[in-house]
This record gives sequence, C-alpha cells and structure tokens, in this order.
Amino acid sequence: MNIYITLDYEIYFGKNHGTVDKCIIYPTTELIRIAEKHNVRFCFFVDCGFILKLREYKKKFPQLENEFITLTNQIKYLSETGHDIQLHIHPHWEDSYFTGKHWVIDVKRYKLTDFNESEIENIVFRYKKVLTDLTGKDVFTYRAGGWCLQPFAKIKKALKQNNITIDSSVFKNGFYVSENYSYDFRNAPDKDIYKFEDEPDQENQSGYFTELPISSIRNSPLFFWKLFLLGRKNPYFHKPLGDGKAMPAPGQRKKMLTQYTDCTVCIDGYNASLLEKALRKLQKKHFNNMVVIGHPKALSRYSIQNVEKFIERNKTKHNFTTYSKMFRKNK
Ligand SMILES: [Zn+2]
Repeated sequence: MNIYITLDYEIYFGKNHGTVDKCIIYPTTELIRIAEKHNVRFCFFVDCGFILKLREYKKKFPQLENEFITLTNQIKYLSETGHDIQLHIHPHWEDSYFTGKHWVIDVKRYKLTDFNESEIENIVFRYKKVLTDLTGKDVFTYRAGGWCLQPFAKIKKALKQNNITIDSSVFKNGFYVSENYSYDFRNAPDKDIYKFEDEPDQENQSGYFTELPISSIRNSPLFFWKLFLLGRKNPYFHKPLGDGKAMPAPGQRKKMLTQYTDCTVCIDGYNASLLEKALRKLQKKHFNNMVVIGHPKALSRYSIQNVEKFIERNKTKHNFTTYSKMFRKNK
C-alpha cells in the first residue's frame, strides 16, 4: 500500500482563529520528530491565502512579521527535508483582514466557486506562486478548502493553466451542504485512483486530472459519542493542540451522534484510533493507495501517539510516500 499522510496546514476559521504557534508550528514540529525518527515523509497542503495575508499586513503590524518568518521558515524546512508542499486554497482570505489584534475572517465567500472565473484564475495563480517561490519546487496537487470544489467546471481552467494535474479532495460518499459548505461525493467511483475531466466524482479515462481520493470510512454514532466523551474526560490527552475554534458546520454534530456517517480516514484526535482498521479494509478491497487527512491544529497528544504507532508497525510493510515521490520521480 502507498500511504499518503496529508495535513491541511492552517489556523482555525471560526471567530476564535487561534495562534500560529499552537495551531501550526508546535503540532507540525511533533510530526517532524516522528518523520525523522522513522524516516517517513508527509504531504502538507498549505493554506497559501493566509501566507499572502500575513505578507500583506506585516508591514503595518510588526507582530505579524514574526509569524510570517516562523511559518515560512517551517515550510522551507519541510520542503528541504523531503516533505511535500502542495496547494490548499481557502479563498475567504481575500475578504478577511487584520485589526491589529486579531483576524476578522469573513467566510461569506468560503468556496473557490463563490468567486467569478477571472478572480479564480488570479487566486490560483497567486496562491500557487507563493509556494513555488518559497520552496523552488513543483506544486501540482490540489486540495480544496473544506472539500468544496464543485461545480468543478468553474475552476478547471484555472487549475489547468497552473499545471495542477492531481486533485486529492474527494472522499467517497462524503456529502454536506450548508450556508458555507457544499460537497457531494456520493456518486464518486469506489476507487483509490482514477482520471477525470469535468467533475472530480466522474471518472473519465482520457481526462486531464488524476484523482487520488482521501480514503473514506463509515463511522457509527457510538464512535462519535466516545470521541466527544473522551475529550471531556481526559482533555490533556484528547483535546486538540490548536487553540482556536472551527467554523460552524450546522447539523454535523447531531448527525454524527445519531446516524452512521461517511468520513475521511483521518488522524485528527480520536479518529487516529481507526488507522489500522481503515488500512485492513482498503487491503481487502485490493486498493494500492491510502490517503489519510489531518490538520496540525486538530491533532491531540493521543493522535500523535497513534500516528507514530501506526507508522512504526507498518513502515517496513508499506510505502509511506508523497505526491512528489510518486508522480514526479524523474523531475
Ligand atoms: Zn483547509
């Protein structure tokens, strides 16, 4: 199995967005420790809009200068030591600003498809460029902010223009629509890799894009009861390391506590307990690729420990890898 451990590298987007240090830098340092100890590498989908905003506002607010330097230094370090740095777009940064004390995060246009086509072209170009300028390496894989990349027709041209050939946003059976979010992967192929052209949930063998979907798992309500209760019982071990709050997702929590939910295979918090189970399920289906998602901000002491155990047990049997290693071998 090729195992991709992927992290969406970002702060929180709720009213309390948290700090760069607790949401990103510290948890990522823990991942670097694991990577170096076990000689595996991870894929970081960097929220480029945030870096651009920091760069814009640091001239006016010197406290942001430090954050900008720490963040860009960590990204450069990750890239230089063989981790993958790829494109993650949260375009709401276009409408957000810094007051001198905190960010006012405006999520009215949360999805890239909330913008018009020329705005989208401009966003994809600038967001990718900040990463290639930082790392000097090719950026060719996309992960949509909040999994929102439909209708894909609206962003397809911009991704092609910027040589983005791989998407890794879809997860089979994922479905959620609210004021800000909108994704529907219920009709996506039950495959671990496929080509597509117009919509990422419709296979097209002569398509320009490759979909490497995030692996998906069906969780029972009991699982989520455990998850929420453990957070209360032993917060030191189970609470996220990030110090902010997620953007509201109305109805999600209730749904998870009352019915079976199709979720991503994930290393955030208690989800990390399911890694072995998910791996076995994918092996049974004869899949060759396992894509795991996580967020430094949502990792807990428990999940970091579980990720390390998972890697330790599987590093000789499976191939922990990155998009660059698999798709850019000779470049
Ligand atoms: Zn994100």
